[in-house]
Amino acid sequence: METKSRKKPHGENGSTNGSTVPKGLVGSDTATKDNLKMGSDHKVDNSGEFEFGGVWGTGLAMVFFPLLMWYMWVGQVYYDSQFPMLEKGEAIADFVGKVANLAYESAYPTKKAWLVYWGFLTYQGLLYVTLPGVWAKGNPIPHRDNVRLDYFCNAVWSFYFTIATVAILHATQILPITCLVDEFGSFLSVGILSGILVSFIGYFSAIYRGAQHRMTGRFVYDFFMGAELNPRIIDIIDLKMFFEIRLPWFILFFVSCAAAVKQYETLGYVTPQVGFFLLAHWLYTNACCKGEELVVTTWDMTHEKWGYMLIFWNMAGVPLTYCHGVLYLVRHNPSVYQWPIGANVFLYVFLLCAYYVFDTCNSQKNRFRQMEQGTLIVRKTFPQLPWQTLKNPTFIRCKNGGTLLTSGWYGLARKVHYTADFCQLTSLGLVCGFASPLPWFLPTFFIIMILHRAWRDTDRCAKKYGADWEEYKRQVPYLFIPYVI
Ligand code: NDP
Repeated sequence: METKSRKKPHGENGSTNGSTVPKGLVGSDTATKDNLKMGSDHKVDNSGEFEFGGVWGTGLAMVFFPLLMWYMWVGQVYYDSQFPMLEKGEAIADFVGKVANLAYESAYPTKKAWLVYWGFLTYQGLLYVTLPGVWAKGNPIPHRDNVRLDYFCNAVWSFYFTIATVAILHATQILPITCLVDEFGSFLSVGILSGILVSFIGYFSAIYRGAQHRMTGRFVYDFFMGAELNPRIIDIIDLKMFFEIRLPWFILFFVSCAAAVKQYETLGYVTPQVGFFLLAHWLYTNACCKGEELVVTTWDMTHEKWGYMLIFWNMAGVPLTYCHGVLYLVRHNPSVYQWPIGANVFLYVFLLCAYYVFDTCNSQKNRFRQMEQGTLIVRKTFPQLPWQTLKNPTFIRCKNGGTLLTSGWYGLARKVHYTADFCQLTSLGLVCGFASPLPWFLPTFFIIMILHRAWRDTDRCAKKYGADWEEYKRQVPYLFIPYVI
């Protein structure tokens, strides 16, 4: 961890402290050339292209996901972790009414849940503006004269500070951490309602301030995709970064901690399976924090707007659905999921290997991008793994002025980090076994989402890089698994 001041680096286009730039890389600036869908008015998207099934697809997704989340929770509580199903001879309306009643009963958004959830959010905001960290430069923003926004990155300090705070609150019994699993339903509803509420605030506030970007004029679609590209509060809190890193992964990690404490209190020990979740969620959360400065140049930060998709998924989707596996474990007797020691060892090794590829692959590409922009920051955040930074990387210098990395993991397969991520999340299903479908929601959702994302990104890159993308595909013919597919 480092303790740098929160004083802004000099000038918006200045280079970041501590940058090291390998020879021959500076000067190419991929994002500057990214004028996709950009007509003369950046506020209007009249490309006629719609993602996620357009108005109908996005509209359905916005209704479907909250309902699915309540439905799965009812299954977890009342149907022994199975999906609630229509009983023989039961009318559909009766079934829907019954499930809705059960959801109301088990997931009522209590005052305590509102206070804890928003107290947590506020506390994170406080840590964001007070704790030390490092400054990173975002990608150039074409419609704002290629300005590069400064991002203050202190998630790693916030994470460990929050762990200490939660430990004190638990030890003093002011707020036992186990409430996260005992009252999960209430937190679920608060997360869902908050996600919807903040989406409305974010959207209409952007319209009110005239800060909208790439709008199609179809309200449902624009609401889902978002209105504003870089929402900030008084230029200090970058809302996209704040919501993407701190809320989902911190909450997810604390749900696993709560499950481990709950198991320890009831059984006197923590099962290897719950320990597995704890490790996996710590690895993922810690990765987002220790490499926070690398997130600022990713696709979400550069391209996606702050709409329902990001907001709802960060406030509710990720933290409150990705945890169904650990909820299943803590709600069942360990005899239901006891695997031979060899299987447990295999899964732990599998997780660590997948994590290694995920971490180093993301790191290699994002550091490569920062090196070419002269904004690489060398950090000591734990753990720094071998092969995170490529020395003398090979790359294609593209006709649009950009570059495409052809060494490291990106030289072996074009989306190997998606595969590694999928392996990590699949291991969370495997460790729970096959008795309940709920832990499998995550790997199933993820594979659909990531395949779609791979297709979206490939389509975007093909348009952006043209013949150079074809050359990249020729040099690196594999997409997900080197030498296989
Ligand atoms: P990537 O990190 O793959 O970023 C895609 C961008 O990288 C492209 O648009 C392009 O942007 C650039 N790029 C592609 N190929 C090359 C190359 N050869 N050399 C240099 N740059 C290249 O995408 P994501 O942001 O989707 O994923 C990041 C991580 O986040 C992944 O590990 C993913 O699994 C994870 N993730 C996890 C989610 C979850 O819910 N758990 C959700 C979404 C993602 P440009 O050229 O413009 O720089």
